[in-house]
Amino acid sequence: MSRRITILVLACSLVALSCAPAGATAVRPGSSSPALDASAPATATSEPPVPATSNLSPSGGPADPRAFVGSSIEQAEAAYVQLAAHLASGSGLTTFTGPLPNWPVTGRISSPFGPRWGGFHNGLDIAAPMYTPVLAAAAGQVVSVGKPTLVYGDTATVIVIAHGSGFATLYAHLNDERPPIVRVGERVTAGQTIAYTGSTGWSTGPHVHFMNIVSGRAVDPRQYLP
Ligand SMILES: [Zn+2]
Repeated sequence: MSRRITILVLACSLVALSCAPAGATAVRPGSSSPALDASAPATATSEPPVPATSNLSPSGGPADPRAFVGSSIEQAEAAYVQLAAHLASGSGLTTFTGPLPNWPVTGRISSPFGPRWGGFHNGLDIAAPMYTPVLAAAAGQVVSVGKPTLVYGDTATVIVIAHGSGFATLYAHLNDERPPIVRVGERVTAGQTIAYTGSTGWSTGPHVHFMNIVSGRAVDPRQYLP
């Protein structure tokens, strides 16, 4: 047991920044609780916290399965940026600089854009009941529909819309039972329903992970939303 604690402490010290936030519960050696605590109200309908330590379980039993994918959450969401920027630049569309005419869904912001759990949350999480229509935030062309980052183990269903050569919006955790109703190449208008809210991928409840990718970087959507 002491060896395990040593390993955990070492792992924690290696990712000291990740261990610091109050939102990510630290491992409690000897506790039978899972390594993660997803009960924090702020993440009730958001993505699960990124594990602060290794995949080891403090109880010695099976580790929380989320611990194995935690480091991939940000990898997948970072890949969203690359994908959306690439597709927007190749869309042939002209310049678009905003603003966005409407929100994708109306709801509470369950996790803002910015630093989170020692990492960085590159989108805006908007909670909304399951099967709520998800609207295109502006007119544009659908450039991706599906699960583009399955390679990271991410099973979130995602839509990317290019609004201009350097401006794309991304909508993640969309519903699979009531799948997206737009296809790649399709032109959409602002406010058009493109899909329905779900909780696919790393998600703790129905919400939209809404991203704005401008000139190759994820930016805070609130500066473009009405
Ligand atoms: Zn998110």
